[in-house]
Amino acid sequence: MQVCHTVRDVREVLPRLPRPLGLVPTMGALHAGHLSLVAASVAANHTTAVSIFLNPSQFGPSEDLSRYPRNLQADLALLGQAGVDLVFAPEAGELYPPGFATWVTVEGPPAVRLEADRRPGHFRGVATIVAKLLLIVGPDAAYFGQKDAQQLAVVRRMVADLNIPVTIVAEPTVREPDGLALSSRNVYLQPAERQAATVLSRSIARAQRCYQSGERAPLAILEAMRAEFRSAPLAMLDYVALADPATLQPVGTLAGETLALVACHVGTTHLIDNAPLAAPHPLTEARIVS
Ligand code: AMP
Repeated sequence: MQVCHTVRDVREVLPRLPRPLGLVPTMGALHAGHLSLVAASVAANHTTAVSIFLNPSQFGPSEDLSRYPRNLQADLALLGQAGVDLVFAPEAGELYPPGFATWVTVEGPPAVRLEADRRPGHFRGVATIVAKLLLIVGPDAAYFGQKDAQQLAVVRRMVADLNIPVTIVAEPTVREPDGLALSSRNVYLQPAERQAATVLSRSIARAQRCYQSGERAPLAILEAMRAEFRSAPLAMLDYVALADPATLQPVGTLAGETLALVACHVGTTHLIDNAPLAAPHPLTEARIVS
């Protein structure tokens, strides 16, 4: 496995590696969710590249950039075992040198509402860094997690709008046995908060059960999702939503494919989750690690 820290090194190494090429963008602090994306790429491509870049431009001034977990050596060990061919781990100054002034902004849906309302500038940072990584690496396919449903939709929109020749592949959310979606931020949770955090997946499972028992009124399903939070006083609900998976805008009727989404704060930690409302078995489609 080759580890590159500069764009120049990546451009020198990549042409020697066989295509097709898969790229897995990450911010490091790798867990089984990231590794499921890597496994999907390794299975489908001759070469897999993983980027590890804690992207400052997607963190707001009040967000957790400085305390975000970092462990490059542990990440490299995991990626070596997973069959990755190239890791791109640049410093911030490599991708945002002095004078940097060009941004990619998705101005309408799916980059409005939900996370966009709570994290101003976040999706501008995401779209810009993903566009840069796609231009630097030039993969045939890039792998993203469904856990970050709005990010996935923003990336799909940006790639379509800019005619970037890459296939975006979405992989299912990997969960703990109690339903909590794996996230690099879960390490922030104190034991009681970790317990409370199961309310996200419980809220989604409740929406799915509601739907499967015949409820078709969005407001009734949203109320059921909110009700689940009454059992978890440590979790401060930010939003529940039923939204179209491509635009992330709320649906008025439950006619087409619909995502149930939830976001909350547990202590100072912002957590999000989502799943299709009409999943045949609530959350059991997700991959569980134990
Ligand atoms: P991050 O390092 O948090 O930026 O995540 C990098 C990629 O891993 C994104 O495409 C995420 O959606 C994906 N990811 C994060 N958590 C999970 C999870 N629990 N299951 C599957 N994919 C995930």
